[in-house]
Amino acid sequence: MEKYQHQEFEAKWEAAFQKGGLYWAGESVDKDKYYILDMFPYPSGSGLHVGHPKGYIASDIVARYQRMRGYDVLHPMGWDAFGLPAENYALKNKIHPSIAVERNIAIFKQQLSILGLSYDWRREIKTTDPRYYRWTQWIFLQFYNSFYDRKAGRARPISELAVPPDLNPEERRTFIDNHRLAYESNKPINWCPTCKTGLAKEDLEEGRCERCGSKVELKPLRQWVLRITEYADRLLADLDLLPEWEESIREMQRAWIGRSRGVNVNFVIRAGGQEIGSLAVFTTRPDTLFGCTYVAICPEQPLLLEIAPYINNWPEIEQYIHQASQKTELDRTDLNKDKTGIRLEGCEAINPVTNQAVPIFVADYVLGNYGQGAIMAVPAHDERDYLFAQKYSLPILPVIISSDDHLPYTGSGKLINSQFLNGLEVDEAQKAITNWLVEQGVGEEATNYRLEDWTFSRQRYWGEPIPMIHCPQCGTVPVPAEELPVLLPMVDHYEPSGTGESPLITIKEWLHTTCPQCGGLAEREVNTMPQWAGSSWYYLRYLDSLNDKCLVDHEIERRWSPVDLYVGGAEHATRHLIYARFWHKFLYDLGIVNYPEPFTKLRHVGLIIGEDGRKMSKRWGNIVNPDDMVAEFGADALRLYEMFMGPFDQSSEWHTSGLKGTRRFLDKVWFLQAKITNKANDLALEAQIERTIAKVGGDIENFKFNTAISALMILVNKLCEQTSISRDSYLKLLIILSPFAPYLTQELWSILGNKGFISEEIWPTVNDQILQTEMTNLVVQFNGKTRGTLSLSVGMSQQEVVNIIKQTPELNKYWVDQTEPQKIIFLPNKLINFVF
Ligand SMILES: [Zn+2]
Ligand SMILES: [Zn+2]
Repeated sequence: MEKYQHQEFEAKWEAAFQKGGLYWAGESVDKDKYYILDMFPYPSGSGLHVGHPKGYIASDIVARYQRMRGYDVLHPMGWDAFGLPAENYALKNKIHPSIAVERNIAIFKQQLSILGLSYDWRREIKTTDPRYYRWTQWIFLQFYNSFYDRKAGRARPISELAVPPDLNPEERRTFIDNHRLAYESNKPINWCPTCKTGLAKEDLEEGRCERCGSKVELKPLRQWVLRITEYADRLLADLDLLPEWEESIREMQRAWIGRSRGVNVNFVIRAGGQEIGSLAVFTTRPDTLFGCTYVAICPEQPLLLEIAPYINNWPEIEQYIHQASQKTELDRTDLNKDKTGIRLEGCEAINPVTNQAVPIFVADYVLGNYGQGAIMAVPAHDERDYLFAQKYSLPILPVIISSDDHLPYTGSGKLINSQFLNGLEVDEAQKAITNWLVEQGVGEEATNYRLEDWTFSRQRYWGEPIPMIHCPQCGTVPVPAEELPVLLPMVDHYEPSGTGESPLITIKEWLHTTCPQCGGLAEREVNTMPQWAGSSWYYLRYLDSLNDKCLVDHEIERRWSPVDLYVGGAEHATRHLIYARFWHKFLYDLGIVNYPEPFTKLRHVGLIIGEDGRKMSKRWGNIVNPDDMVAEFGADALRLYEMFMGPFDQSSEWHTSGLKGTRRFLDKVWFLQAKITNKANDLALEAQIERTIAKVGGDIENFKFNTAISALMILVNKLCEQTSISRDSYLKLLIILSPFAPYLTQELWSILGNKGFISEEIWPTVNDQILQTEMTNLVVQFNGKTRGTLSLSVGMSQQEVVNIIKQTPELNKYWVDQTEPQKIIFLPNKLINFVF
């Protein structure tokens, strides 16, 4: 018999699979649908390394399995190609980004095409295609033309907004603009001096640019912002609709949205006995109000400029404000760093519950984006306030009895030094003081979020143009929907200006246009969208990628939505996955999608790291190219190896020696064909086959690919021991192996004289009768202690049982220090005892 030569048939079968339209979705409407989505890649210049396809292989195995189970499976692929990395790559290599992106996509596609991935390529999309970003721009216009109706709890057309009748035209316009879900803002934004663009909070990591690591600065810049905060409550509440998301991801989203409930307390500001203003202070601990001994405001607090004339040490304060603007958020809030602040001389705040004056500090540990940019400091019961009060010798007044006589005390207990709150528990005191503040008209209940509105402008070239026009007569005017897309102009020079202006401003023939409202001369919006824009809705476009009438046909959307299974990296938990849920909910409000959440089940993929234990990177020279592995071992061996490396969601080290092992396994499967006879198998073997079918199917559904493969390996070893195996058993083995190894199984299928494609076979149903009659419960002991039982088929050898126990987490945890036991007592079908 010839050897297994993957080079001789993988390409041949790939061509036949594509030609046969095996992976086309939507061809059989009588089947139930199953939508399996990969997070689409950003096609970088360096191509794929072996870590990239891990998630794609897993989703492909599920796709193949679900097709065999009779589902109409949609499994598409596309390219997320706008954004900074593509632009920086293009600048560095002096190739226009549009050309670089096409080139990189071609490389990626070639690399993916040899891995046996069952994509429906007819639906391929790329976010940089004008036929695609036309609809990204269209969605932006819908945001602009909508407001959030808090009573109804959803977005509605801006034309339905109730505008107070007594406003003059300008006030009217401002009122409306202040309600749009896409709005212009002049608030200082996070600016990366290296990337030369504004960033959203989601683009930062501990106060630094997530992409390049530079410290971000606050820069006042006009920008477009999406009012994502209106959706904060729904983004939180609807996490409960997602029981098939990993809890860790849901928890990360909850923390990111960061809802806290509390009270806005009004402090009157006085100077020289005169009232000069008031300050709302958000607190989640109104019960500690009697212990407030100073008020601290952030350097960005607008009140500062209002009361500047009353502040005796204003030059000093001004300098402090400037210094704070140079610091990162992390520098400002780090508990280990020294807290700084300056007292506003000549001004004081009045505690509304005691009517006593307390000093006001400007302090940069208070952040402008939390609450009202001001805090009531209670040093006795807050860590930061305590450190600050010690440093500036401020009074520290306990108002809760501490259980350990230690300050600051942040636990619960009874109130003291708090007049009418004395003797109450913390939660009772919170209710009582909140009621009092509301009754007195000096406070109101409030909810705060860590989530901020989404800074949506980038001052860079390679992104979707924002479809707005600035007219000297009419102000900001949207581009009419029928004129979309606003094409990104092809230009030779697109370096970022660094001044905060988009490079598009220098392209005069593009910039100058006419106003859609008055027909006069006007200019286009020159900022572009962030790289997260196109990926916030791409899963909908696959459903109907060629539609030029709407972004997705209603009936088609109803058939396929929501995505049943979504696979990708955990690093997207608080970026893409929040943005996409937000856009989806907005589209739900518009009636474009029929279900409130886009992704029913979410699985995240663990990294593959280099053989040296480091992240794969050019820098370390530890990158393994999948093309080389496929050439040497075959795509099937690579697929199996990546799934066999360990639990799917955990990171694992690459070892080419391990790939040799999965290749040897496939060699065994190949040579087994020599053992086929017409004789029936014995019952024990039949039972093991049935058990393996059940195990592999269940493991695929639970993303336990490594244990599915080990079950297949155990079965193949068993078959190798036989003098003959039945043809039927061998075909069953090929069928359940085919999602993992589509090429080899197809070749063997064909060699055995079968017509058509193995991937079109039905997944075998488990013969329960065989399974039941030949099962036994085997007792597992460690040092004589029973630790569990295993339901096994009759007749398994000691080595087989040991292997199963090693792969069973509930049992192998009793294995002492991974050492070999001194003795193994084995009573076949009854008991195994490991003596250490
Ligand atoms: Zn940067
Ligand atoms: Zn106009």
